[in-house]
Amino acid sequence: MKAALILATQQFAEHPAYVDDEVEEFFFIESAPRFAKLPYHRHKIVLLVSAMRHTAARLEAEGRTVRRITLDDDLTFKAGLERLLKKHHVSRLTWMSDPNRPVDERIARICADHDVDTDVLSDGLFLTPEEDVDGWFAEHPTPLMEDFYHWQRRRTGILMDGGKPAGRRWNFDAENRKALPKKGVEIPPLPQLAHDEITRGVIAEVDELFPGHPGAAEEFWLPVTPEDSRDWLDVFVAERLHDFGRYEDAMKADEPFLFHAIISPMLNIGLLTVEEVVAAATRTDAPLASVEGFVRQVIGWREYMRGMYRAHPKLEHVNALQLEQRIQKYWYSGERMPKDLPIPVRTVLERVHRWGYAHHIERLMVLGNWFLLQGYAPRQVNAWFLALFVDAYDWVMVPNVMGMSQFADGGFVATKPYVSGGAYLQKMGSWWPSAQDAKDSAFTEAYWEFLERHEDVLAGNHRLGLALAQMRKRRDAKE
Ligand code: FAD
Repeated sequence: MKAALILATQQFAEHPAYVDDEVEEFFFIESAPRFAKLPYHRHKIVLLVSAMRHTAARLEAEGRTVRRITLDDDLTFKAGLERLLKKHHVSRLTWMSDPNRPVDERIARICADHDVDTDVLSDGLFLTPEEDVDGWFAEHPTPLMEDFYHWQRRRTGILMDGGKPAGRRWNFDAENRKALPKKGVEIPPLPQLAHDEITRGVIAEVDELFPGHPGAAEEFWLPVTPEDSRDWLDVFVAERLHDFGRYEDAMKADEPFLFHAIISPMLNIGLLTVEEVVAAATRTDAPLASVEGFVRQVIGWREYMRGMYRAHPKLEHVNALQLEQRIQKYWYSGERMPKDLPIPVRTVLERVHRWGYAHHIERLMVLGNWFLLQGYAPRQVNAWFLALFVDAYDWVMVPNVMGMSQFADGGFVATKPYVSGGAYLQKMGSWWPSAQDAKDSAFTEAYWEFLERHEDVLAGNHRLGLALAQMRKRRDAKE
């Protein structure tokens, strides 16, 4: 009997196994011990389990045979799969390749141990086929995102105009990345979704089974079906895409979402596909600067980071600056935060506990920046992001956290560390009452100390020349 294993992160409306006539049964595994491996935010567990149960219900309604391991079976993924393979006399198993190492190898090993033949389908979470992305990285020992992005645009024809980029420019940064003006910009609220019976059931189970995990399950806020995800995307395109580019890097103390799409939680588990996101964004009459800025994130940055993860497995273990500070309990519990935690860090941390989400510039320039300035061990930081964020998986965390944000690779993914003092944060987010408060903040102090501490390693980096010169001037003036 041929069965298909539908992994938690592959809740596609159209999974290729659904049209494989030989497949007789569909397997879903909700592994409670897997969800207990780290203190995952409860919204992340609710999202994955509820999405799986909705897919299973849809298949059953279509008359398909579904076999499930549920949370209350309390089985590891391996034990769950073994039970399904044995109980249902499987001779061949098909599944879609998982982007995270070493999931495919593990499944293949379990199948081999049980004399089950395998069929691995190519990964549908991305636009670029595995061999193409691997080929590009093999040809580019110094892989620059901008080159990758041009290749993607040319290869796919997205936002291209007869061989040339639409609008005759690849990049509209000059028009983008502004701070929010103090008044006059209205930020449309996110859609409010009601929980259906399935999600209500999952919320109750998650509360019961994972009492020590962060997040309030009943405040879960995301779509869990492809249809609702599609509506959610359409609302973004209609209401927020217009201003996405302009305020992409802006921050605001009382606004967690601004003009961001909030699609990564769904995109990373197949509820949305890259193809439909790009089609929706390029069909509008939003300004080209915004559309291009957004498309660059989705077909550029996202696919580039996945390629980086595939091509450079060593990124998982690097620690170029040899940072060892351990993450304290309050980062996971959200309780008893130190009183002197700078206001942007405290605000974004509270936000992450509430939503399991913060937008890109808050991840990079508030949380990541603070972690790096304070000297936290990169793998500890990576594990924290993995646990707390609803959209976090190894393939995307490792290059973003270890590489881009924590400079643990010594400058491979990003050519300089993303660090700043209070002035940049104040400019983009008005976090403190005044510019002077920002200048006097712990952030600014930590920034200069960081440059001083790592002067030797950073001295050769031409992008930091000015900052290091300022630091030395400041140090000389103090002596
Ligand atoms: P938008 O700002 O609306 O952008 C649209 C889409 O572009 C995103 O949904 C995402 O799919 C894609 N995208 C943009 N930048 C990146 C990037 N650098 N890498 C991958 N995709 C990108 N992204 C995740 O999907 N999961 C993570 O766990 C994650 N952790 C991050 C941790 C750090 C320290 C940093 C600096 C970045 C991280 N990112 C992660 C990338 C990015 O911050 C998020 O994809 C984005 O904030 C998701 O929110 P959104 O859907 O509102 O994105």
